Amino acid sequence: MTEKLYYEDASTLDFEAVVVGTQTYDGRTEVELDRTAFYPGGGGQPCDVGTLDGARVVETAWRGESIVHVMETGVDSATVGSAVRGSVDPAHRRAFMVQHTGQHIFSQALVQAGKLETVSVHFGEEETTIELRAEEVPATVLAEAERIANGVVTDNRRVLLHEVDRAEASRFPLRRTPPDEQRLRIVEVESFDWAACGGVHVARSGEVGLIKAISQEKIRGRTRIHLLIGARAFDDYRRKISLCQALGRALTCGEESIEQRVTELIACEREESRELRRLRVAQAAADADDSVSAAPCIGAVPCVRRLFNAAGGEYLKAFVEKALDAPGRVVIAIDRLDSSYQWIIGHSLGDSLDLRKIVPGLLAAADARGGGSPSRMQGVGARADDAARLADAVEAELGRLFRGGTP
Ligand SMILES: [Zn+2]
Repeated sequence: MTEKLYYEDASTLDFEAVVVGTQTYDGRTEVELDRTAFYPGGGGQPCDVGTLDGARVVETAWRGESIVHVMETGVDSATVGSAVRGSVDPAHRRAFMVQHTGQHIFSQALVQAGKLETVSVHFGEEETTIELRAEEVPATVLAEAERIANGVVTDNRRVLLHEVDRAEASRFPLRRTPPDEQRLRIVEVESFDWAACGGVHVARSGEVGLIKAISQEKIRGRTRIHLLIGARAFDDYRRKISLCQALGRALTCGEESIEQRVTELIACEREESRELRRLRVAQAAADADDSVSAAPCIGAVPCVRRLFNAAGGEYLKAFVEKALDAPGRVVIAIDRLDSSYQWIIGHSLGDSLDLRKIVPGLLAAADARGGGSPSRMQGVGARADDAARLADAVEAELGRLFRGGTP
C-alpha cells in the first residue's frame, strides 16, 4: 500500500521515494513507489503527471491498493530497492486544485442560494461542470450563488483537513453523504463548507480566484452548470473585452450600443433582402416581356425558350408567371446549377394541350424527373449538361403537334 504524500499535504510536489515494484501493463512501464506525491485521480479530479528521475510520468493510477506511475518510456533507475526523485507537474496540479476547490465552494453556494444539491462533477481541460438535482436553475439563484462563492474567495478562508472516524464525522454539517468508509477525511472551507473528499485542494480560498457560471443545460431531468474558475475566467474576460472592442470598432459604437446596433443591422438586412427579392421578381418579369416579344413561333404559337445559369428558383418561377400572363403562349425555362438543373414547362393554351401526355416521356433521356398539371410541369435534372437536351426534345415534340395542326 503506497503512502499518500498528497493526502497529508497537497503542497508537496517534489519528493524522494524507494521503488518497490515495476511492471509492464498495456505496453507501458509502471513504477510503484513506497510513497508518492502524485495524485491518482478520483472524484472527477484528473490524476497528476510529472517526472521520476527526469523521465516523464504520463498518468498515475490505482492498481488494487497501490498507486502506480505510468511512464512514457522505461526509466533505467527504477529497479526495486533504488531511490528515485519524483516531481509532480506544478502547473497541471495547481490548475486542477483550483478547479476542485472552486467546485467545493460553488456547490455550497448553490445549496445556500437555492437548496440545490450537487450530484456529480467533471473537471475538463477547459471547463468545470456541476450537475444538480433540479429541472433548471433561475438566473437570480445562479447570480446569488456566484455572489456567495466569490465572497468566500475574497475572504481568503483557510481550507482545513480533518481526519476522523465515521462516527465522529456527524459533528460536521456535511454537504453530502460521505462514502461508506471507516476513516474519513473532511475538507472544510473554513466555516463555510464541509465535504468528505480524498482529492487535492489549495490551502486558502483566495487562491481559487474568480468563479463564474457561463451557461446551464438540461440533462436527463438534471441541470448541468458550466463554470470558468480562476485563470480560465480571467482569460475568458480578456477575450470578451477584445471581442467587444473589435465589435465596437466594426460597428463604430461604444460597448453599450453594440446590441442595439446589431439588432438594427439585422432588421436592415432583412428589409434589404425583401427589397432585393422584389427587384429580382421585377427583373424576371421585364426579362419575360422581352423574351415573349422576341419569341419564335412553333406553328402559330409563340414559344419562349430560356436557359439561365443559377438564376434561382424564385427568378425562374417569376419569369414563367409573367411569360404566361397572356393566352396563347408556351414557355420552356431552365435554370442550370453547378451540377444539376431545375426546369419549368408551361403554356397558356387552355385545354387544347396536356403537358402530362408529352413531357413525362421525354424526361428519362435528359436524366430528369418531375410532374405537375396539364398546363404547368416542373422538376429537376441530374446534370446541368443535359438541360439543353430536354429543351430540344420538348420543342421538337411541340413542333410535331403544332405543325400537325393541334392546336
Ligand atoms: Zn475535494
